Amino acid sequence: MKTKNIFHIPNFEQLLDPGISSDKIVIVSVIGKSSLNTSGLKVKSIGRIFPFENRVSSESVIKGSYDEENQTLYLHLYSLLDTDVFMEKIGAFNDSSIIEEDFLATYDDVKSSFCRYFLYLLYVSHIVVLSHPGSSFDTNYVQYFKALDLLSKKYFNKICSQLGLLNMLNSDWIANGRVCTPRIIFYFERTPRPLNNISIKKLEHNLEDRIYHILKKTRLISTSGSSLFAIPPNDEFVYVSEVRPKDRLSEAVKGLIQDCQPGGAMQVQAPFSSQPYVEKDFMRFLQVHIQQARTKGFDDSVSSSRHQHPPSYFELPVLEHWVEASKSLYELVVQKDKPISFLCTDTRFSEQRCLKVLPLAVARYQEGLPSHYAKAEHEARLAMALALFRAQARGPKYPQYQLKLEVECQAHWENGRQQCEAASMTGNPCKLPKHTPDQEHMSGFMYKSACDCGRKIGPRDDPYTPMQANYIFYQQIGKDCQCSKLERIEFPIFEPSIQEYKAATLHNGQHEPEDPMSMLLFQMTMSDRSIQQLTPEVGEKGVVRQPSTTEYLPGMLTLNSPPGLLPVFSSWSLVCLGASSLYSHNLGLSEQYHPGFLSSTNYLLPWDVTVGSKSKKAWPAVGKYSNRGRRGRPTSSIMPQTVKVFIGVEYECSSGHRFMLSAPDKMLKAAPGSIVKDTGHKIAESDMPLYYPCSCRAGKIAQLMRLHVVTPKAPVYCTLNPRVQPAAGAPIFVSTTDEPTKLTQSAYWIMRLPFAYVADKEHFKQNLSGKLLQGTFGVIEAD
Ligand SMILES: [Zn+2]
Ligand SMILES: [Zn+2]
Ligand SMILES: [Zn+2]
Repeated sequence: MKTKNIFHIPNFEQLLDPGISSDKIVIVSVIGKSSLNTSGLKVKSIGRIFPFENRVSSESVIKGSYDEENQTLYLHLYSLLDTDVFMEKIGAFNDSSIIEEDFLATYDDVKSSFCRYFLYLLYVSHIVVLSHPGSSFDTNYVQYFKALDLLSKKYFNKICSQLGLLNMLNSDWIANGRVCTPRIIFYFERTPRPLNNISIKKLEHNLEDRIYHILKKTRLISTSGSSLFAIPPNDEFVYVSEVRPKDRLSEAVKGLIQDCQPGGAMQVQAPFSSQPYVEKDFMRFLQVHIQQARTKGFDDSVSSSRHQHPPSYFELPVLEHWVEASKSLYELVVQKDKPISFLCTDTRFSEQRCLKVLPLAVARYQEGLPSHYAKAEHEARLAMALALFRAQARGPKYPQYQLKLEVECQAHWENGRQQCEAASMTGNPCKLPKHTPDQEHMSGFMYKSACDCGRKIGPRDDPYTPMQANYIFYQQIGKDCQCSKLERIEFPIFEPSIQEYKAATLHNGQHEPEDPMSMLLFQMTMSDRSIQQLTPEVGEKGVVRQPSTTEYLPGMLTLNSPPGLLPVFSSWSLVCLGASSLYSHNLGLSEQYHPGFLSSTNYLLPWDVTVGSKSKKAWPAVGKYSNRGRRGRPTSSIMPQTVKVFIGVEYECSSGHRFMLSAPDKMLKAAPGSIVKDTGHKIAESDMPLYYPCSCRAGKIAQLMRLHVVTPKAPVYCTLNPRVQPAAGAPIFVSTTDEPTKLTQSAYWIMRLPFAYVADKEHFKQNLSGKLLQGTFGVIEAD
């Protein structure tokens, strides 16, 4: 067979070469599926016409070949239903990870694309060969045929008017939209097992009956003559290719010998053998149909005796007309990218299933919802709704609707049902519905806390600000207790000189004053500081640091706080209960003055301190501030003396239980008969924990809240210099950056510590590594 003029649709240029002769042409198309490692080639005897290409395209393409001698045009569709083409495409999908959806959604596109090409071929061919890689009819085609039927009806008018625009076709062609109702031939690549020719014939007839029956039953071929395609009523339309011998080597040798015959190798394209099918030949089978087309045309409409219909239109076009018609239909039919909904059965099923389950899942989410709820509740409910959805929804639309469910539930929650959830100073979420910042938060938790002096225990709301936690509560309860009237030592706080004072802005913990005077002062204090660090003596005579009166420290006072800034309120308090005689070591702290103590823990501890020139070693370790001022003082003139101070470190749990520790890791426990064996050395000379488990049943963690000091009647001053580090690596919180606070003699002093620790907006929550650094208690001799 002499072949030339290979082309790819829609590129027809080669066919329009004036050197090509054409009179009346017959068009044969090959379409269908092919198995792996066939390079997408279907119906090998026709496929040989096309030159072999090593690389398989990853897209659908129609290759064409015009047999000029026989005036026959062959078209061969390579589509994604060809396994090799599809494998190429899968590779491309993986590379670019285009597939975000389920595979089935992508498969809709594959099927739709195939269907459009199929329709196109039905409009430009006389004979369409539908190839099957196996030996049984693929009933999936029934669905394609139905989709083609719908698609054809949809496009028919457009096709006719498009052809009408060409001004070269006869009116019947335009009215029919094509040259004829094409005849469809079913080709099967192999027999189920090796069969002789008689058996194959039997199989073919069997298949013909079944296919005819199926097409009739599904009304794909009809008596009206308006079918999309037809099958010949009197000719064979099923061809089963015989299984070729399995001995591939002898096959190859035979092929080689034949190829060496004169002219043998010239006729074939590699790698296909030129071995002719002597006994059974599809080309011969096909020629019957081609000849019929060439002589009398097809009239394949199923006719019944009662029903007469006009003869079908049939035309053998000239090449030029066919090319023009095919070109214009290609743009109309093939170049569309929307999936054909009729073919999207999987996605449509999935969609309907998801649509049905979605409201059920949303209802599950909303079942018995409170008026407003927290994020955790939202997430738990969403998980329930998703579980229901997961159990019932199916298919490629699943991810899309799952997302929809999440969005809907989220929107339901955010539509006025969100809880505020702002964390309190103790870490509890606000129970109110989401509110404006000017409304106060409320966690609903109530605690019990004692006042500054410890004499009155009262309820307190879970605090949301350091001011509520460390100042306002104690102001309020202090009025009930009357301890607000007791003698106090006030700690330095910010005192505004103007009305528009504001919080200082800190950059990396450093503060840069705005006005030039403060700037100068700032620089002086900075240099003052560095001098002090080198030579402490100079510091004393140095510049007196004036705190800012226009800007205040936003957080609580720490050793890292920029110099010259003070907080608006003090988070600490230091009150004098009265004379030292208020404490009796035999009786301990009375329930009347100090309510809430766990039994046998209500004692202070005696701490003997030797004061004098030779006793520096016995002094408690003190901070850098207390170092200043003592050096260079003539202490040798005073005789060493030992004084007894009673001290206590008191812890308080949120239920109002209180207790003392006798060591960093031990609760104070008096023996029966009020005998306290411990001394105050351990608590005075160790770091003390900031948090310690209460022995109450709730297992709460108590916090260090008070320091008790009963000062002796001696010419000495007891000092307090509490430094709290609420977590490892955290800043050290202090009541004042001045020298240790001196307490009056022969008196009972109580220092109340902060309830919450917040520095520069950084809040330190309960942390078991928090501690009161050693060096809190001190004794110095009076002048
Ligand atoms: Zn709130
Ligand atoms: Zn009080
Ligand atoms: Zn407790």
